[in-house]
Amino acid sequence: ASGLMNGKRGVIMGVANNRSIAWGIAKALSEAGAEIALTWQGDALKKRVEPLAQELGAFMAGHCDVTDLSTIDAVFSTCEEKWGKIDFVVHAVAFSDKDELTGRYVDTSRDNFARTMDISVYSFTAVAARAERIMNDGGSILTLTYYGAEKVMPHYNVMGVAKAALEASVRYLAVDLGNRGIRVNAISAGPIKTLAASGIGDFRYILKWNEYNAPLKRTVSIEEVGNSALYLLSDLSSGVTGEVHHVDSGYHTIGMKAVDAPDI
Ligand code: NAD
Repeated sequence: ASGLMNGKRGVIMGVANNRSIAWGIAKALSEAGAEIALTWQGDALKKRVEPLAQELGAFMAGHCDVTDLSTIDAVFSTCEEKWGKIDFVVHAVAFSDKDELTGRYVDTSRDNFARTMDISVYSFTAVAARAERIMNDGGSILTLTYYGAEKVMPHYNVMGVAKAALEASVRYLAVDLGNRGIRVNAISAGPIKTLAASGIGDFRYILKWNEYNAPLKRTVSIEEVGNSALYLLSDLSSGVTGEVHHVDSGYHTIGMKAVDAPDI
């Protein structure tokens, strides 16, 4: 993939540490020659993101908490000042109250429902709107989703409802931005042990279940998600938009538990 992203510049939101999916994407893009701007959420994470940015020679574009739209504005203004135009954006941001990522969906509170939707769904549209203003024609925008949008997964609850709305947003945004050749897609990643995932009830069980039942008989790595993201963010996928691409060892194709899967 060397040189595939030469001359392309973009923003990656959602690196918290070196286990973040956004970090896997940043590494793949950087290796392919892209210039990258990273955002961080708050001072505590800045300390973690700074050395990672240095590792890739990435630009620290600013603090971004998507519940404060002025911080999204600021990040895109900073990138415009530095670069003029951008070619891609990665949105790898989601949040829900840990107490509601366990038990029953029916018990979701109104406050957490609204907050989950704001941070995990609306923010993608808010980011796309700002990105569009400084994006070259033919640019590419990517978000991260999960199979819990399509089928009921234990404990995923309100986040599943949010991901379903996020996937619908991908399709609406693809139409809105398509006349400029800007593409909007999502990667539906299989379960990966990250900071955000550790908030989901029984996550280890979900990982094991995927290992035993996915066609590839294993889970996926952030590097594999990164490589698929490279395809969707590069001109290799110039004919692809409004798509939800599964990077999950094929788990989404399976309708029944494998006969040789042990009871876990
Ligand atoms: P992570 O904890 O490394 O990343 C989540 C990021 O969201 C963090 O960088 C955090 O700072 C950011 N974030 C949360 N609230 C925010 C806010 N208000 N403003 C700005 N940023 C905020 O975990 P991850 O698993 O890499 O998550 C990245 C994306 O991938 C999320 O959308 C997640 O739902 C999705 N995803 C994860 C998995 C998995 O199993 N880990 C599977 C499929 C999809």
